[in-house]
Amino acid sequence: MKYEIDAKHYGTYDVVIAGGGPAGLSAGLAAARGGLKALLIENSGALGGTSTIGALPFFLGAYDGSIPYRRMLELGLNYEDLPRKRKVVGGIYDIITSRIRKEGGVGPCKMALSDKYPALSRFGCHDEFTFNIETGKRIFDELADEFGLSLLYYTSVIDTKMENNEIAGVYISNKDGISYVQCRALIDCTGDADLVYRSGFETYKGDKETGEMTAIGFITHIENIDCTKLSKYIEDGGDPWFLEQCALAAKERSDGNGNTPPTNIVMFPLTEEGVFMINGGTNHDFVKDKNLDGTNAKDLAELTKIGRKRAKWLVENLFRPYIPGAENCRLRLTAAYPGVRETRRIVGEKSLTEKDIISGTRFEDTIALAGRHFDLGRKGDEEKEKEGGLQEFASTNALGGGVASIPYGALIPRKSKNIIVAGRCISAEGQALGPVRVMSTCMALGEAAGVATIIKLRDNVDYKDINVKELQNTLRSLGAKIDV
Ligand SMILES: Cc1cc2nc3c(=O)[nH]c(=O)nc-3n(C[C@H](O)[C@H](O)[C@H](O)COP(=O)(O)OP(=O)(O)OC[C@H]3O[C@@H](n4cnc5c(N)ncnc54)[C@H](O)[C@@H]3O)c2cc1C
Repeated sequence: MKYEIDAKHYGTYDVVIAGGGPAGLSAGLAAARGGLKALLIENSGALGGTSTIGALPFFLGAYDGSIPYRRMLELGLNYEDLPRKRKVVGGIYDIITSRIRKEGGVGPCKMALSDKYPALSRFGCHDEFTFNIETGKRIFDELADEFGLSLLYYTSVIDTKMENNEIAGVYISNKDGISYVQCRALIDCTGDADLVYRSGFETYKGDKETGEMTAIGFITHIENIDCTKLSKYIEDGGDPWFLEQCALAAKERSDGNGNTPPTNIVMFPLTEEGVFMINGGTNHDFVKDKNLDGTNAKDLAELTKIGRKRAKWLVENLFRPYIPGAENCRLRLTAAYPGVRETRRIVGEKSLTEKDIISGTRFEDTIALAGRHFDLGRKGDEEKEKEGGLQEFASTNALGGGVASIPYGALIPRKSKNIIVAGRCISAEGQALGPVRVMSTCMALGEAAGVATIIKLRDNVDYKDINVKELQNTLRSLGAKIDV
């Protein structure tokens, strides 16, 4: 291939981390902290992934006890009363959140602006940590500098060079053209397992049986919401999902050209007064049946165009006319990147399954814990919910018993030697991905992958052959939570 011949040599590193989302950021910090010469390569111009470029600054998953939001409302549980019995993520998550908290970050387990407007807690679903996106981006840069992690922004990792089934380096593409980075180990934190896939190791998309992937979202922020009025509506017993308003809008505003309000709105207060993030409800419902694929560039472009147009339509046809306090709201921003929930997962040396989670399997090689309920939207969910099925974990969880253990083997692509993954592309089958993919858990996975790399390179062994006990003890000593 032409690029293999022409690629300029960018440098030689102990480890390359592809992708700087919550998993990659944490993996990079952990590797650099341990003294490795580490290079994190990121497509966009910031660290944080979905939390920053995806405009979604809400870390979830640091505590056990989460239950579906609607169920929480039905049970009449207040945010403050949620049964969070233990913290299940520590380590680098704690370092990151305590740093951001000093500059206005709120949480975990507290909603932004709830000191001034207590009713806004009603919009919280479990253990949110919320922050200003610009503050987060700068702090992530500062942490990278402090830990000695090299960053290369505006660069895609496009392929790997394989020698004897090992990664010898990666090809990258940016304004310099195509370059080659030599490395001894590769941590794939692209969310989509791009490099595992390109290296020829086994991956699959979405649900193993059906291939179904949870719908892609498109996050929007709206501003100039009157918090006093909105709080009054909630205090008077108003539904924070706005089911009635959405139904009325659907009746009165659907235009026959595909523009229909969603069945509900999922919104969260951000740290600045009057600014809310809109999650579900913008185009989640709208794209559900289109089966768009987050690894397909054409689909992502289409989704972005639809999302941007729809954001404006919803401000004018749902928020301003129907939502209390939103009469004078404005669209503030749309995400720089669509919110992709689920694409490729690796086939790992081990897999985490729904059954493991429901039955509470404790793996000998546990390297992280997860406390979130199953939350991947699937066709037919309502029937399943009626039968009890997947909500079993949620119910156990509500009682404080449900914590999932994540095995180290789920991070290692089967038959590979020097590539590992962290984040939403680990080997978690079916709904098992739900508890794993939230951002706090992704940070725990990233930290484990970073520390594993230090041991792997020191001992010159394949990832699967490292001393797992040492990995676990090191993680414990760094404040990570791995014991149930
Ligand atoms: C709509 C939506 C709502 C969600 N709500 C929440 C929530 O409220 N709280 C929560 O905790 N979680 C939430 N999640 C889940 C969570 O955001 C993701 O699962 C999590 O961010 C995954 O982390 P990651 O590091 O694996 O990947 P990502 O956050 O997706 O980051 C991947 C990074 O890799 C970069 N990248 C990708 N490919 C390449 C490449 N080839 N070369 C270089 N860089 C590359 C990307 O630019 C990106 O920065 C939500 C997800 C979505 C989509």
